Amino acid sequence: MERDARPGAFSARGVVSVVEPECLEDVRDALRDAEARKVPVYPVSTGFNWGFGTDAPAQSGQALLRLHKMNKVRRIDLDQGWAVIEPGVSQGQLAEALTGSDFLLNVTASSQHTSVLGNALDRGVGVRRQRTDDVLGLEVVLSDGDVCRAGFWPRGDQTAHYRHGVGPSLLELFPQGNLGVVTAAVVGLIPVPERMYCLRLRFDADRLPRVVRWIARYQRQGTTAGVIKIYNEAAIEVYGGMRSAAYTMYVCIEGTAEVADVKTRTILEGARDACLFSEALVLPSDTDEMTVPEAALVRSYAGDPRGNDAMIDAVFGCPARDVETHSRFGWAFVTPMVPFSPEGLGPALEVLGAAEESDGITIGHTINVLPSGYVDLVVALRFERSTATAATVRRLLDQLHEGFGLRRLSPYRLDIDHMHLAASIRADPV
Ligand SMILES: Cc1cc2nc3c(=O)[nH]c(=O)nc-3n(C[C@H](O)[C@H](O)[C@H](O)COP(=O)(O)OP(=O)(O)OC[C@H]3O[C@@H](n4cnc5c(N)ncnc54)[C@H](O)[C@@H]3O)c2cc1C
Repeated sequence: MERDARPGAFSARGVVSVVEPECLEDVRDALRDAEARKVPVYPVSTGFNWGFGTDAPAQSGQALLRLHKMNKVRRIDLDQGWAVIEPGVSQGQLAEALTGSDFLLNVTASSQHTSVLGNALDRGVGVRRQRTDDVLGLEVVLSDGDVCRAGFWPRGDQTAHYRHGVGPSLLELFPQGNLGVVTAAVVGLIPVPERMYCLRLRFDADRLPRVVRWIARYQRQGTTAGVIKIYNEAAIEVYGGMRSAAYTMYVCIEGTAEVADVKTRTILEGARDACLFSEALVLPSDTDEMTVPEAALVRSYAGDPRGNDAMIDAVFGCPARDVETHSRFGWAFVTPMVPFSPEGLGPALEVLGAAEESDGITIGHTINVLPSGYVDLVVALRFERSTATAATVRRLLDQLHEGFGLRRLSPYRLDIDHMHLAASIRADPV
């Protein structure tokens, strides 16, 4: 079954069958059947893995298991802050279920229709932290149809949501692996802050090294919350905004009302004294006055992914569900993990400097500073779908992977055409 015939960033794959289970027992049957026929299985949750291959497997000849019909929120615990969800539960669906509660979901910048669990299993990154940090427990069906649970799983009403258990933990076996199909996860939630601000700071490209040192101090001292996002001007355009300064940085600040106010004042006064910025301000709480991507980000920090779909519309020129079939734009990501220092970012930016934009292709980069102190550098390529641009994009992707690879800046996640790099990235250097 040949699937994607439209020119895109990745070569087309065929699948031998498509199965859409509706419950745990259906998944067990599907895996036993595949095992009997010796057909490899490729599971997707909602299958919106845009930029990495969408719902296509890395190799042809697999059975595609689409889990979007398993979309129950099985349980939410609003005392401790966790939810048990199935693969088809979208971030919009879970965020909606939490409306008005004391907890929020760590949402990504992608569509509200994307799966929380699917994204976490590919180690996706939300605006609060990497999604793997949200995963407390997994329910998994193994290839022989057996069901196992790893990490924390609620038993009775008063079990603490402690994910590590005793002895080695099995949780890490399942993200980005093929040892089982995940049919549910316990996802940790984030307490709603009493007060939250989003700051916007703009600066010229030559100031980046000094800005990195300046903001790192506040981040390390716990003044900022969640992921600090620094977009270059092409990235702002790629996500549907308008080019302005060379770099635009967004910083989330939160806490009790008094603490959030003091932190905000501290950073704004620090910005004024540093003389690095052409603009440093607190964004208004009314998102109607903002550009589409800015409004989406501010809402996302507050756990609401619904603004993201206006951005998806702007980016692709059509709603999320039609992106693969109707959009005249294609998309690809390269996502190396980079140290958050001028010395760490310098080599990464050299690689980007060598990757030239051409007609119909825009290359943006976002420096996502994770709370753990390193950078998820998201290089986004947006292009007009044509045979010529698709060929250029494939060459650019190879060039970027080679450039980052030579500098040992390994991606945290791979697209389907570069999955073979996993073995060399994982190789033990000893
Ligand atoms: C404009 C734009 C913004 C984006 N922003 C972000 C962002 O901020 N952060 C981010 O991380 N991504 C982002 N993306 C990329 C992508 O859209 C998201 O990562 C999306 O969540 C992935 O699709 P999905 O949730 O449908 O997961 P799926 O495609 O269903 O799954 C992802 C992968 O996980 C594995 N998997 C899924 N379900 C299972 C299962 N049940 N058992 C075992 N393995 C499974 C599969 O190998 C699959 O390929 C963005 C894309 C665009 C175009």
